[in-house]
Amino acid sequence: MTINVRFAPSPTGMLHIGGARTALINYLFTLSNGGNYHLRIEDTDKQRSTDEAKQAIISGLDWLGLLPKNNVPKNNIILQSDNIGKHQEAAHALISKGAAYYCYETPEQLATKRLNAEKNGEKYFYDRFWRDKSDAEAKKLAPNITPSVRLKMPLDGASMIDDMVQGKVEVGNEQLDDFIILRSDQSPTYLLSCVIDDVMMQISHIIRGDDHLTNAFRQLQLFNALDVTAPLFAHIPLLYGEDGKKFSKRHGAVAISEYQKMGYLPDAINNYLLRLGWGKTLENAENDAKKDEIISPNEAATIFQLQDLSKAPARFDFAKLNHLNGLYLRDMPNQDLRSLTAEFLTTEQRENQQGMEAFEKGLAGLATRADKLTDFTDIGAFYFTAPDITNLTDKKAEKAINSETAPEMLTQLHQLFSAMGKSDDAWNREAIHKNISELVATLDVGFGKIAQPLRAVLSGTMASPDLSEIAACLGRDEVLKRIKNAIEKF
Ligand code: GLU
Repeated sequence: MTINVRFAPSPTGMLHIGGARTALINYLFTLSNGGNYHLRIEDTDKQRSTDEAKQAIISGLDWLGLLPKNNVPKNNIILQSDNIGKHQEAAHALISKGAAYYCYETPEQLATKRLNAEKNGEKYFYDRFWRDKSDAEAKKLAPNITPSVRLKMPLDGASMIDDMVQGKVEVGNEQLDDFIILRSDQSPTYLLSCVIDDVMMQISHIIRGDDHLTNAFRQLQLFNALDVTAPLFAHIPLLYGEDGKKFSKRHGAVAISEYQKMGYLPDAINNYLLRLGWGKTLENAENDAKKDEIISPNEAATIFQLQDLSKAPARFDFAKLNHLNGLYLRDMPNQDLRSLTAEFLTTEQRENQQGMEAFEKGLAGLATRADKLTDFTDIGAFYFTAPDITNLTDKKAEKAINSETAPEMLTQLHQLFSAMGKSDDAWNREAIHKNISELVATLDVGFGKIAQPLRAVLSGTMASPDLSEIAACLGRDEVLKRIKNAIEKF
């Protein structure tokens, strides 16, 4: 069997993180099992579909590296609306073979039937009035009505799906109504379009969110009516908020583009989404810290199996995503970090040449403190502008600068640094560290006595990266300037 899977979003809203997870799982499935991964945009609902949403889906998937790579046809992006003619043909073919029927109910009649059911406290279920009527009866009873088309569902027995994630699930056919496949305006319904496209694309596995499980039973009957073996189904649990509640904006149910703006890396997002509700560890992980955490798509492909996905709803946890994103940032080549962080800087910062130089030198150090690309602009702000030591928000830094010994220590440091050269050979992390340590020994004080006020003066916070490193990145002249400025303020 050739494996063909599809990610089939409707362009009625943004591509959000749950959709991205479905796309990723489809993609990984073809990486581990071979076969083709397709993107099908289900845009037949003209009223709710927008071109903007379609573009957002494509660019979101592109950013995540989840656009199909093969070039057939049109990048493997299929527009469902291109196939409407085929969907209509299929509906009429089902009528011809007696598997579907014309239904002449008007919207008003249906509304009355629905209302009556509600009044009687019954679940509404179309009463199949037109299921076995002849053409002659239709002419007589509904001469001017354009009919819709409904599928004849089996009246007894059960529909069973052996789902690759959910296991065996069954529903009694008496619970399935004769649903509409073609509306009276000739527009096909989602249930029909989806199945016909799956048949035309020879989809072997339908991997999608478990909110579609109820549709699956009806679609199964549609495959049966078409005399086609239904694809295998895998309904993956939807995402929930970190608190176990319905996934909402506040939990992270926002567009993928928002994640980009928040400073996340596509690889980290994919890695996190893969780990959600999937409990495998890598035997050959480089080291223990990374084991369980960093998994590249290629590594995942070697072990990814749908059956290993948990049936339980997966909880989306920003803290875990942040942690993973941080691991990726710290693993990233400086060159990449440079171009990625630059996008988050202000124009003023970008135009500050001296600041840029210091910031870029300090990137690796900043990465040790950052979870997101946006963090660099916060944590690294001191590389661009000297902190205002008269108005520090970091209480510990404020305390350090106001300590009794701070003026003396800073004066000593000014002398010490003035005597050091400013070329890279003389002014570097090791040399600075060595000199400070020697001063600590000479003055016979604790390291913190010297280091803390210096750190406060240079960065305005006690949470900055390694002290010698930030001094090295700032450059000797800037360090001396900041110290002098502080001494003058005492
Ligand atoms: N278009 C449907 C959706 O966006 C998905 C249908 C499917 O995967 O079968 O929810």
